[in-house]
Amino acid sequence: MGTSYARAALAAASALVAVAAALAQTQPTAPPAAPPLFATTKVEGTDNVYIFRYQGHQSMFVVTSDGVIATDPIGLGRPQAVTTYIDEIKKVTSQPIKYVVYSHSHYDHISGGKPFKDLGARFVAHKNAKAQLERLRPANIVVPDEVVDTQHTITLGGTTLELHYVGRNHSDNSLVMRLPKEKIIFAVDFIPIQSVFWRSMPDSWIDEWETSLKRVLAMDWERLIPGHPGPGGRLGNKQDVQNLLQYMADLSTAVKEAADAGKCYDTAMKEVKLPKYEAWTNYAGWFPGNVERYCLLYRSGF
Ligand SMILES: [Zn+2]
Repeated sequence: MGTSYARAALAAASALVAVAAALAQTQPTAPPAAPPLFATTKVEGTDNVYIFRYQGHQSMFVVTSDGVIATDPIGLGRPQAVTTYIDEIKKVTSQPIKYVVYSHSHYDHISGGKPFKDLGARFVAHKNAKAQLERLRPANIVVPDEVVDTQHTITLGGTTLELHYVGRNHSDNSLVMRLPKEKIIFAVDFIPIQSVFWRSMPDSWIDEWETSLKRVLAMDWERLIPGHPGPGGRLGNKQDVQNLLQYMADLSTAVKEAADAGKCYDTAMKEVKLPKYEAWTNYAGWFPGNVERYCLLYRSGF
């Protein structure tokens, strides 16, 4: 009796398992929830530092008792990102937006600032960014009112924001924005977090890039806000910068070897691998482009 009961229970259980398995096969699996179009997040542990994200781009803004310092308008091909950005600022403060600081001259980060300009904001960028924008006159980009050479400090309502030029890297005009009290920096595109670089790293100075990373490491800060969300939306830290320097060193060594063996470009782009970094964001899609860029360095010297 005990045995038959157990057998019946087992049969019932296995029938349930079979039903569950059949359901699992026939039910369409729900797609992973898409992140909302945009989000505004107050940086943990601060009183007044916010991240505004719209799709895959993000920007920092700082609220003070005497106005707001905003950064990249991130409005390329989507003016609604800029108006949303302004609406989001207005939700947290009635203070006027006094500044818009550009991280660097790439259009995906700085397009669409006119609504900020119309509200009276003063635009600030590195001097090389202004020179480039004046030369190219791209549509829909506000030309900076004020430029930074090596360093500049904005003080507003008791908040200090330092703007540092650390040399050429992903562009020739990247600014590191540092909040000394909060020990936070905002740096865009030249310090990807746990991610390889964008494709073949166009418009870049490979030979000077590492120097600028070392300058960033020498500054006093604890958290880095990137211009594209990091893994799981986390902020960066100094270890991420060290890891990136190590990645560049490993990549450089591997491609130099391939270049010396006459394998640049095509064979190197297929054969050079750095399995240690396989788990980094965009390794599969963009790593061959990174190899291509280092081939250019060893073939042409820049
Ligand atoms: Zn860029």
